[in-house]
Amino acid sequence: MTVRTRIAPSPTGDPHVGTAFVALINYCYAKQHGGQFLLRIEDTDRVRSSPAAERAILDALHWLGLHWDEGPDVGGPHGPYRQGERLAFYTRYANELLAGGHAFRCFCTPERLDAVRLEQRQMGKPPGYDGHCLNLGEKEIAANDAAGIPSVVRMKVPREGSVTIDDLLRGPIVFEWRTVDMQVLVKSDGWPTYHLANVVDDHLMQITHVMRGEEWISSAPKHALLYDYLGWKMPQLAHLPLLRNADKSKLSKRKNPTGIRFYQRMGYLPEALVNFLGLLAVPPLEGEEIMDLPTMIGRFNLEHVSVGGPVFDVAKLDWLNGRYLREKLDAHGFEERVRAWTLNEDYLGRIAPLAQSRIERLSDLGPLTSFFFAGRLDVTAAQLREGKLDELALRQAFVMAAALLDALDEWDVPHIEEVIRAIADVLEKKLRDVVRPFYVAITGSAQSVPLFDSMAILGRDLVRERLRVALERLGGVTAAEQEAWKKMIERGRPAGETQA
Ligand code: GLU
Repeated sequence: MTVRTRIAPSPTGDPHVGTAFVALINYCYAKQHGGQFLLRIEDTDRVRSSPAAERAILDALHWLGLHWDEGPDVGGPHGPYRQGERLAFYTRYANELLAGGHAFRCFCTPERLDAVRLEQRQMGKPPGYDGHCLNLGEKEIAANDAAGIPSVVRMKVPREGSVTIDDLLRGPIVFEWRTVDMQVLVKSDGWPTYHLANVVDDHLMQITHVMRGEEWISSAPKHALLYDYLGWKMPQLAHLPLLRNADKSKLSKRKNPTGIRFYQRMGYLPEALVNFLGLLAVPPLEGEEIMDLPTMIGRFNLEHVSVGGPVFDVAKLDWLNGRYLREKLDAHGFEERVRAWTLNEDYLGRIAPLAQSRIERLSDLGPLTSFFFAGRLDVTAAQLREGKLDELALRQAFVMAAALLDALDEWDVPHIEEVIRAIADVLEKKLRDVVRPFYVAITGSAQSVPLFDSMAILGRDLVRERLRVALERLGGVTAAEQEAWKKMIERGRPAGETQA
């Protein structure tokens, strides 16, 4: 048997360090066994998926050096490797499941399903489909179809007994069937859900080991049942621990940057980041923390991956990155990395035009543009408070900006400007007054080169982090405030009208 593993990211948002961690483990396992590592794009969520997010994932993982043997950009014998291009497969197997009596058509309206859920909640029962359409006759189905009533396909799930999932990391895990929902397999628009597409693809792509984040454990019984219904052998499963903050909470971007591109932009070397992630999975030999990919492949042992939740300890990453910069690069190699980072024609070419009309001597350039060559800035609450915005508006503006900027499809000057203008409108403040604290947070000074251009050049990841730091300096934000202020900006309502 040839070992075949995969990473199957959904192109919905920034490439996450957790994805890199899972990719690294799958990569090491496949390579150690002389097998193949694949990349499949799971874009069945049509609303949230985007080609830009897909590009960003591929770029980030390539940057880390975790290259795949088969994937949407490199092809391979089991393609296409993008689920949106594989619909015919899913339809075929959904029909097979229907014909075999393992799945059923469901015509329930969203309103009915909501009502069922509400009732279940009121009665303290676990939420789930109540089996309403389980026994529809052919005539009824034909009549519903003729009437044009939308439908989905659901899988049948036994109501009694249990199933045992053998997890390579966690051992046997027992699930009672009555706690497993009759999952939708095909949505009303004919697209598959994650569950159907994932099982069909892992089978057709001959995946032997599925090693994925622990958040998918509850999907395992559904998948086991689908493999069973389709008469296929299920790959071996291992549910990997999620990365954690030092306080053991789930790594989240509200506390710390989680995007691979942030670390790239901050000037971490890809091999240092991979080494750091590797240390979370491969225990180092005494004094041998520096490991390249081939060493990690050699030493990797799935049994040594602790399920306790590895801590993404940025201080350790800093230490490791420093060692790589000092010990692993010669002078020429170092210079090359500096160029690749920001001291290159492309980056300088974007910055110089902003500075030209604002300086008297070329030597003014350094102080004026130093923030383009920095990571986090050391701004104080007093600096942020200097302008005309009161404390509430100030914090609201940063929270709103973080939410809106994150949601932008295009990261360019017009879109960024639109966001800041929208915030000024909602807060009913002058644009000039709103812009000022952003200048401080993003450029480190109330007067600098144009703000929106600067933000466009710095990139979303660094801007997000500088806004987060600014907000932290102002005392942070509670979850309730965050929620309320995000809603406010989504609705575009002036501040005074929120507390109806
Ligand atoms: N598309 C899923 C994700 O984004 C893949 C989960 C799996 O590996 O099965 O994590």
